[in-house]
Amino acid sequence: MPSDSPAPSDALAAAQAAYDEFRAKGLKLNMQRGQPSDEDFDLSNDLVSMLGPDDLTMDGIDLRNYTAELKGGLPSARAMFGRYLGLEPEQTVVWNNSSLELQGTVLTFALLHGVRGSERPWVHQQPKIIVTVPGYDRHFLLLQTLGFELVTVAMEDDGPDVAAIERIAGSDPSVKGVLFVPTYSNPGGETISVDKAQRLANLDAAADDFTVFADDAYRAHHLGQPAKTVDLVGMSAAAGKPDRAFVFGSTSKITFSGAGLGFVGSSVDNIGWLTKHLSAQSIGPNKIEQARHVRFLETYPGGLDGLMRDHAAIIAPKFAAVDDVLTAKLGDTGEFATWASPDGGYFISLFTTAPVAARVVELAAAAGVSITPAGATYPSGDDPDNRNIRIAPTRPPLAEVRTSMEVLAACIRLATEESRAG
Ligand code: PLP
Repeated sequence: MPSDSPAPSDALAAAQAAYDEFRAKGLKLNMQRGQPSDEDFDLSNDLVSMLGPDDLTMDGIDLRNYTAELKGGLPSARAMFGRYLGLEPEQTVVWNNSSLELQGTVLTFALLHGVRGSERPWVHQQPKIIVTVPGYDRHFLLLQTLGFELVTVAMEDDGPDVAAIERIAGSDPSVKGVLFVPTYSNPGGETISVDKAQRLANLDAAADDFTVFADDAYRAHHLGQPAKTVDLVGMSAAAGKPDRAFVFGSTSKITFSGAGLGFVGSSVDNIGWLTKHLSAQSIGPNKIEQARHVRFLETYPGGLDGLMRDHAAIIAPKFAAVDDVLTAKLGDTGEFATWASPDGGYFISLFTTAPVAARVVELAAAAGVSITPAGATYPSGDDPDNRNIRIAPTRPPLAEVRTSMEVLAACIRLATEESRAG
């Protein structure tokens, strides 16, 4: 240890004193909600008045009545969100308010009927799904609730550990697919490279019906230079496996959260498979919501891209503040922690250097700053290394993001010194 470094007990005392100062302030801040801010929502308030009483048709369809033959959503909505996914309208289903629900629906149909090309329903095959870690807790919960066994692979800077996926899916026919976020992943912000996407499309799986479920929740959520997004459906078709991929998205972080549209893209045949099953349980999705989204996004200055640029102007300074404060308080040498500086998405993933994530979250809560529970980014809430912390900077105002990060840095210092002191 260099002679000018404080003795461990001094470092612990200093970290404790800094933390106590924050604790005495009686803060009440929340950094765990992966939600847009009210300022973001305000950009879309005109959405609610996009249709008037004399204006209740779109595509020649009466929005007020059942339209059973409209299987995959309003034509204009399928065209708009197909374009968003880089797909044709007939490759797209626009449904109701949640892409997560749509993922659950597709997975449930796969369990009950198998996907196209399945010999048997998946439910009889003790199915496993590969997920990336750190990852999205609701993916884990959804899959486990449906009865899938989860197999984890690492999320790397350029997407999932595809070598591991090739190994696992190549040897075990009960591995039926992989679910991951291809663009600006939750929580690390990683985007899959073209090379890795191509390998997933080409992958020689032991299960003939191995399926790629890509939850593209942040496909357009750039903060600076847009990442290169991939077309997993097109790549799969080019690889001779046209039915391999389903790609999901929603407007939850474009317009209103949980009050917009979820959609899915795949091969035309897969869309036929899906709409056949969907139309048995619903005469159709909410056409009014679809019509006003189409009209709003068509008339917003710059369209959907213009809206996303306006979101970025609000969100990017918050991401920058996280990085600035953590770098100022913890340095950039990795002595206490390392973290990503993503180019988009909704989260920043931080790894403490010592195995103290749970203690950091506990200290932060005691100082009035609520952080996503440690472990939430791993199946069953169990981070085997106790090092990952998900930071969600979008919802609070900028000043609160800065204060919260100062507190978090003080907690990381204190927890680290505690662990060093044994
Ligand atoms: N997928 C990911 C990766 C998310 O982070 C979220 C919300 O945080 C969702 C899906 C939820 O989307 P929806 O509101 O469309 O169900």
